[in-house]
Amino acid sequence: AKAEQLGGYRFFEQTMSDELNDRRQIEHDLRHAADRGELYMVYQPQAAVASSAIVGFEALVRWRRPGHGQMSPAIFIPLAEECGAILPIGEWVLRAVCKEAAGWPNPLSVAVNVSPVQLHTPNFVALVHTVLLETGLSPRRLEIEITETALVRDFARTLATLRQLKALGVRIAMDDFGTGYSSLSNLRAFPFDKIKIDRSFVSAVDTNQQAAAIVRSVLGLGRGLGLPVMAEGVETQAELLFLQSEACDGAQGYFLGRPGPIDQFAHLTRANLHA
Ligand code: C2E
Ligand code: CA
Ligand code: CA
Ligand code: CA
Repeated sequence: AKAEQLGGYRFFEQTMSDELNDRRQIEHDLRHAADRGELYMVYQPQAAVASSAIVGFEALVRWRRPGHGQMSPAIFIPLAEECGAILPIGEWVLRAVCKEAAGWPNPLSVAVNVSPVQLHTPNFVALVHTVLLETGLSPRRLEIEITETALVRDFARTLATLRQLKALGVRIAMDDFGTGYSSLSNLRAFPFDKIKIDRSFVSAVDTNQQAAAIVRSVLGLGRGLGLPVMAEGVETQAELLFLQSEACDGAQGYFLGRPGPIDQFAHLTRANLHA
């Protein structure tokens, strides 16, 4: 029994150190993912609920890591945040997305996810400004999505940063509203232009009364505050019909379109040649 225990212990230790090595390797690879050309963007359409017209896209990053399969950004973004690799990744994303969107017909907007770590770097606003000038994208067409985790530290500095972004003309959306650190006071304290209701509520509106009640009250909140509300994670027609009947402003989700390479949406993003 003792030997077995010992063996078990060794095995455990081995697994632990393998995992640490893997993680170190992943973090190393993440730091170089941008310069090695391993990142690319996919885009998911965002629709106006009333007309079903596509009004913009959310940009979502993908990582093609040589020798490995796809890893979800839900996994590698947190790792990149912990090791600092999110800064080169975030900068690459911002440039790639603004460059791409600058070629779209004028009213189409683009939403970029910005990590709290990135938002809190001192030169973030300057970077956004530079990239807008470099790419010629109108600031009005750029929306920055931040989650409430970005708001929990250093209130004064965060507020200053968001105000500077607004001064550039960029819009700011609160992402994943209703989860995590959600606090109504954040909606009042910070200059948001949009609320995105988390998909965990949206996907359940047709089957779960609590979820429906929560979505209705977020819509009421948006109306009261004068903020448009976008529902994410719309997967079925029933969910979309609910949002229509409740006069939700925007919708995004598999039912309206899965994230994909921008070429897939060429019919929407190719500028009219005569324009
Ligand atoms: P998010 O910002 O909430 O992005 C929406 C996620 O929901 C995306 O997952 C999208 O593919 C997925 N989704 C869209 N519609 C549906 C639907 O109808 N049903 C379901 N079940 N899922 C849907 P993805 O692309 O895997 O991204 C996961 C998260 O990784 C994002 O969540 C965001 O937090 C982060 N992320 C992705 N791209 C970036 C980026 O460029 N920068 C940063 N900082 N974070 C990113
Ligand atoms: Ca988002
Ligand atoms: Ca979200
Ligand atoms: Ca559902």
